[in-house]
Amino acid sequence: MESPPLIVNGRKYRWPQRPVVVVCVDGCEPDYISQAIEAGAAPFLGGLNGRGTCLTADCVVPSFTNPNNLSIVTGTPPSVHGICGNYFWDAEAGAEVMMNDAKYLRAGTILAAFAAAGAKVAVVTAKDKLRSLLGHELAGICFSAEKAHEATLAINGIDDVVSLVGMPVPSVYSAALSEFVFAAGIKLVERERPDIMYLSTTDYVQHKSAPGTRHANDFYAMMDRYLGELDASGAAIVVTADHGMNAKTDAFGRPNIVYLQDVLDGWFGKDVARVILPITDPYVVHHGALGSFATVYLPDDRIADAAQRIAALAGVELVLTRENACARFELPPDRVGDLVIVSERLTVLGSSIARHDLSGLDVPLRSHGGVSEQRVPLIANRPPLSLPPGRRWRNFDAFDLALNHLQ
Ligand SMILES: [Zn+2]
Repeated sequence: MESPPLIVNGRKYRWPQRPVVVVCVDGCEPDYISQAIEAGAAPFLGGLNGRGTCLTADCVVPSFTNPNNLSIVTGTPPSVHGICGNYFWDAEAGAEVMMNDAKYLRAGTILAAFAAAGAKVAVVTAKDKLRSLLGHELAGICFSAEKAHEATLAINGIDDVVSLVGMPVPSVYSAALSEFVFAAGIKLVERERPDIMYLSTTDYVQHKSAPGTRHANDFYAMMDRYLGELDASGAAIVVTADHGMNAKTDAFGRPNIVYLQDVLDGWFGKDVARVILPITDPYVVHHGALGSFATVYLPDDRIADAAQRIAALAGVELVLTRENACARFELPPDRVGDLVIVSERLTVLGSSIARHDLSGLDVPLRSHGGVSEQRVPLIANRPPLSLPPGRRWRNFDAFDLALNHLQ
């Protein structure tokens, strides 16, 4: 008997007819895939041309990891689910805090809803920072590659993950951390046969290596092998990304950085303005907490002046008031500053120079956060039923595509 569709956050999802796997490839600019196919490194993905679905979608801005992963698993923008950065100014608490606690989440996930309705659901994420958000109220399997050795039946719905996967727990800064996610996904499909599975990798490789380079193609070759195995298992697969990735450097490979806090301190006096960089998280080695999106809190009488002067800075693409930014990017106004600043493709925004440790950058800076990293792939291993013409696809339509629009 067929189960009725589920309504989650106002959107309707059909019950899975076969195992459905949604993969969020962290930092996957579409060019990574096309270059890997061109180089012969991704024969499975290349072979989908003609028998699968290939769309280009827009991610959520700020084009960061947490807002987009939460958009994908809730099917909504941050104005609904509340997670608009890795880090924010909690006005109520009067403190700058990480936003990776589930208490900040304002919407339930598609994963938890299906699990509550009786589906078998599994989630594997590379970094542990996402686990509590992705696994919020989920009666199913949810663990990170980073802390796979700590998974317990009580907390993660599974134990002994390391022997299941047959791979040692990798370093948090490695390509292997993402490989662990795929390897775990294959083993879970074989042993647990989940109805719905969500896999989320890390962008370690994408921060270091441009599309078409050897390291990037090696990563996509690895991913391609696992996707081929998942395909052979009969799963319907949708591959998307949380955001793209671009070089943020001049022609010599030196980073283009606007240190906004220093600039504003120079104009208005020390700490009159408060610059928040929502890319900030505990894992900053590969990007030095530098991205193309910032939000600023200012005294009311400085906002208009600051907006005008910031907009004139080299490398700045957009300056929006809170109201305009929240309307355009679908963000929660109570978690956004008075101004939102987006830098252009080759430039990142910093706070003050003393707060950024760039010593871990052993290759020219690549990062994300802006509108320039908004295009992401939305690819499926099956042909579409029928796609509404002219629809602007979002990465958070991944479950809609997987459950409602594939043959
Ligand atoms: Zn990411």
